[in-house]
Amino acid sequence: VAKRIGGDRIEVFKPALRAQKPDRLGIESDLRRAIERDEIAILYQPIVRLEDRTVAGFEALARWNHPRLGKLAPAEFIPIAEETGLIVDLGLFVMDRAARQLGAWQRVLRLDPPIFVSVNVSSRQLLRHDLIQDVKGVLARNVVIPDTLKLELTESLVMANPEYAAQMLSRIRDLGAGLSLDDFGTGHSSLAYLQRFPFDTIKIDQQFVRPSASGARPVLLRSIVAMAHDLGMEVVAEGAETEADTIELARLGCEYVQGFVFGEPLTAEEARRLIAPVPAEGQRAAAGR
Ligand code: C2E
Ligand code: MG
Ligand code: MG
Ligand code: MG
Repeated sequence: VAKRIGGDRIEVFKPALRAQKPDRLGIESDLRRAIERDEIAILYQPIVRLEDRTVAGFEALARWNHPRLGKLAPAEFIPIAEETGLIVDLGLFVMDRAARQLGAWQRVLRLDPPIFVSVNVSSRQLLRHDLIQDVKGVLARNVVIPDTLKLELTESLVMANPEYAAQMLSRIRDLGAGLSLDDFGTGHSSLAYLQRFPFDTIKIDQQFVRPSASGARPVLLRSIVAMAHDLGMEVVAEGAETEADTIELARLGCEYVQGFVFGEPLTAEEARRLIAPVPAEGQRAAAGR
């Protein structure tokens, strides 16, 4: 049985205090060894179904536990990984780990509909590397329910080479992976154009989800949701931070919310407790077990 959540905020990730900016060359050479040294951790942020406020799935988000610099957020190392090409190995590592975790959860939890996990994909992985082989390998090594491992790609990524991207994405769909259009609204493409890509979900960027400084919520939000539904896609609103945001998103017909209002990114263990809370010893004894 899925657990209803809301309200409680769990804080997991605190960037270490740093005296000086880490030097980029050092980071680059450290990053080459980070995976084999087991320094890359994956956190899971809940994606909550608004209909009943249960956890529908998680987004896998990378963190780097750097031996000297402490915990590094993606903004501090993903751009370097992208420029150097290390993102190919890093991305495959995250996808493989996340799929293994998803398979393990699905075997013990048996939720209906099944829980999903989405992972981020960088342009380099799609455009300059054989992403198809990676996805095939990951799905061969890890048994997961079809379409529950989802790849997140941004519109600027697919728009860099739309014809090629459309072909690759439909092959990835055929392999049994889901596809989410990440950070929607930050680029300039129309949703109608995006119809040529086989996305099943769009994730609306935070900037459209939270009210602006003036307190007004961007009017665009309503039309994005309506259009996505016309095109047969489900909608995740990213970055909801308050109950008021959540109520408004439900009113607009968004299916899912991912945001601090329902929790920050969690360790795999914390994530598991969120979907299947372990009864406390006392309760177990009281239940006669
Ligand atoms: P993203 O894919 O759009 O992920 C969502 C980001 O928004 C996460 O930041 C998440 O912690 C943050 N977020 C979620 N809810 C809220 C909220 O209510 N308020 C605020 N202020 N922020 C919220 P994070 O983990 O720092 O990741 C940043 C970006 O780094 C991701 O954006 C993604 O583009 C990239 N990234 C993370 N992990 C990976 C990875 O394994 N591979 C690749 N290629 N990129 C990654
Ligand atoms: Mg994402
Ligand atoms: Mg996003
Ligand atoms: Mg983003």
